Amino acid sequence: MTLAASPTPAASLAISFADVEQAHARLRGVAHTTPVLTSATADGETGARIFFKCENQQRMGAFKFRGGYNAIARLSERQRAAGVVAFSSGNHAQAIALAARLFGTRAVIVMPSDAPQTKIAATRGYGAEVVLYDRYREDRQAISEGLARDQGLTLIPPFDHPDVMAGQGTAAKELFEQVGPLDVLFVPLGGGGLLSGTAVTARAMHPGCRIVGVEPEAGNDGQQSVRAGHIVQIPTPQTIADGAQTQHLGRLTFPVLQHLVHDIVTVTDAQLVDAMRFFASRMKMVVEPTGCLGAAAAFAAGESLRGKRVGVILSGGNVDLDRFARLLAGD
Ligand SMILES: *Cc1c(COP(=O)(O)O)cnc(C)c1O
Repeated sequence: MTLAASPTPAASLAISFADVEQAHARLRGVAHTTPVLTSATADGETGARIFFKCENQQRMGAFKFRGGYNAIARLSERQRAAGVVAFSSGNHAQAIALAARLFGTRAVIVMPSDAPQTKIAATRGYGAEVVLYDRYREDRQAISEGLARDQGLTLIPPFDHPDVMAGQGTAAKELFEQVGPLDVLFVPLGGGGLLSGTAVTARAMHPGCRIVGVEPEAGNDGQQSVRAGHIVQIPTPQTIADGAQTQHLGRLTFPVLQHLVHDIVTVTDAQLVDAMRFFASRMKMVVEPTGCLGAAAAFAAGESLRGKRVGVILSGGNVDLDRFARLLAGD
């Protein structure tokens, strides 16, 4: 990765560590301080000391609550009174629905009509209004923008927004506060909200920590983008990591990754399933496929981590139990 060739000066990145600190203050007493777990088996196999930051145990089951809540907290009274809109079939939907409810704000979530019933039900369960669209015929962005315009709602994007990025960075801040310095930190990568917030945090708190983003092999647009020096767009990747099926990085997240992330690596779906099995059998935890990206990369790095202090963000735990069982059974 060539830092010198980066076109965006570091000073003009979308967020600074101060933004992450302020987000963390807003989340105090609202978000869970998630546990950090270790495993003698994982340490034994790698020769490293691995710290798993359990955002699968965050409110609504993923780190996305942090960014969603921070974004709604930053709206003006007037914007909050009018309501928010988001498009997502996954964790961002539930994060916005829950955060909006905590603020007493109206939330409209635009979801594909073929999204799993459990996700639609969970989003409604948090009190959001769900607007369904046909993903083969309709454009969710256009629908959301139309709702925003007609009803005065504020659109909250899943990753490419400074308040979302800063909120996501609070998971890494908390991890460093819990365990101290790390040699390397493995972070799941979709659109780059989590990774950009993490990288800004690490640079401020422990600049010696190597930050590694991890993508599904089938969807390595982030790796391609950083190598090419511009945002590369790919067709929707076929992978079990449904939270990382993004087609491209964001205009705000990409420059942060370019400047502050040391490496982007990929793992296969089979490696994700192996990691899911490890967490279920050894650590008695449900981690969703996307949540296993960082862990799978750490396990693959194996011997090269010997003697190191390694952080892994387990980003989420939302997976239908039927699907979980099918994946582990190899169907
Ligand atoms: C959204 C999500 C990611 C990817 O986060 P980005 O900020 O889009 O890079 C990773 N893991 C889980 C569980 C997610 O929900």
